[in-house]
Amino acid sequence: MVEIYNTFSGQIEKLSPIEPMHVKMYICGVTVYDESHIGHARTYVAFDVIRRYLTHKGYRVTYIQNFTDVDDKIINRARELSVPPQDLAKKYIDKYFKDFDRLNVLRADLYPCATEHTKEMQQIISELLEKGFAYITQTGVYYSVSKFKDYGRLSHMSIPELKAGARVEIDETKKDPLDFALWKFASDDPNWDSPWKKGRPGWHTECSAMSMKYLGETIDIHGGGQDLIFPHHENEIAQSEAYTGKLFVKIWMHTGFLMVEGEKMSKSLGNIIPLSEALDKFGANVLHLFYTSSHYRSQVNYTQSAITNAAENLWHIENAFAELQSATGTDISILNEAKNTARKAIEEFEAAMDKDFNTPEALKVFMGLVKYINRAASLGKLSTESAKPLYNVFTKISWIFGLKLPEVSAEEKAEIEKLIEERNKLRAEKKFREADEIRSELREKGIELTDYTNRTVWRKTTVYLKNKI
Ligand code: AMP
Ligand code: ZN
Repeated sequence: MVEIYNTFSGQIEKLSPIEPMHVKMYICGVTVYDESHIGHARTYVAFDVIRRYLTHKGYRVTYIQNFTDVDDKIINRARELSVPPQDLAKKYIDKYFKDFDRLNVLRADLYPCATEHTKEMQQIISELLEKGFAYITQTGVYYSVSKFKDYGRLSHMSIPELKAGARVEIDETKKDPLDFALWKFASDDPNWDSPWKKGRPGWHTECSAMSMKYLGETIDIHGGGQDLIFPHHENEIAQSEAYTGKLFVKIWMHTGFLMVEGEKMSKSLGNIIPLSEALDKFGANVLHLFYTSSHYRSQVNYTQSAITNAAENLWHIENAFAELQSATGTDISILNEAKNTARKAIEEFEAAMDKDFNTPEALKVFMGLVKYINRAASLGKLSTESAKPLYNVFTKISWIFGLKLPEVSAEEKAEIEKLIEERNKLRAEKKFREADEIRSELREKGIELTDYTNRTVWRKTTVYLKNKI
């Protein structure tokens, strides 16, 4: 039974999807005016692992993630660069896919864009006006927060507390500072016709419209980073529930923020790390292990030691994978032990993940399994049969963690093994310099060798331990 912390109730709750064994989740996507950074990846990797785990548990998961492709930030940046806003948005949507494919994050079932859903948003806004939840001013259509009795429930704050703490848009035409724009009148590009005046949608309405359109009026999980709790998600609840009269979301999930060496990432501090840069330096697997090592709800600190730790873990993981793939022989002395170790590992892994996706705990279990495999191999006890149950659990967990361990083609394998044989012959003849040349040649191709007393194990590696953050 999977249990999840619900920001709304402030409690751990059992996951019980509206449709049995089908989880419908909507995760707020990026605003496409710049490159994705390692903070975005923190959030999307967290939801990717959650989605993968639910799939592993037998759920069908429908996962929707939007692109906010109309927004003041996009318009302002486009003006600075003298390019059409839609071209800027398209550029960063393409870049998003490039980066997140490299990171091995599974693609969502659908990536709806705000600009393609203005009709659906207008439908919601019209209804909110009709029901008296919204009003029109000279500058736009606004949602009247005081009309929604549950406003502030997600943030666990009263309306006066929200007012005191919030940075809200100042606009004299609004009746209340907390009221938010559903539709902003605008005559400059981009704009759309509307039953009121030409203009653009407010930010919050897009997610209500697209979530309801693709997943239904009530969904199982809606999520994003912690900064979205207020005002974005609070406003989504207010407008959606006023519109349908029904519960909008069963479980609200929010990820903790990523910090860089203890500081917030920001333009002014000049410490924004683009995802593509981190991928170039460390590769996708190290980043996955880094993110996995902290709980999705806690703040995560991008530090040299955290990255080094992740790289060291990957080193052992790749070692184990190579051992499992190359295990041969008929020794069955540890067969029962291997079966028990594998069974225990998956049980403990699931127990950790079932409790609000405790990935640090689950990672410990995985590293325990990895250690067992490497030890059994170094003792020469890992045979074809005993490797099987371990391989099965190992590959399941590495898939859930989003690891993509290097595969080797049959030709490549034959070539590597031929070179190792040659090297071992040279070593036997004490021609160490020539033997080392072969090792270097293999290293160039990403192949690392480990010599044991009577055998040499190789692995294709993606670890770049040398790089600094
Ligand atoms: P944005 O494009 O700024 O709307 O962000 C897209 C998503 O990434 C939202 O769910 C944000 O909460 C999340 N996000 C942005 N910065 C960070 C960060 N430093 N750490 C974790 N999540 C972040
Ligand atoms: Zn959203």
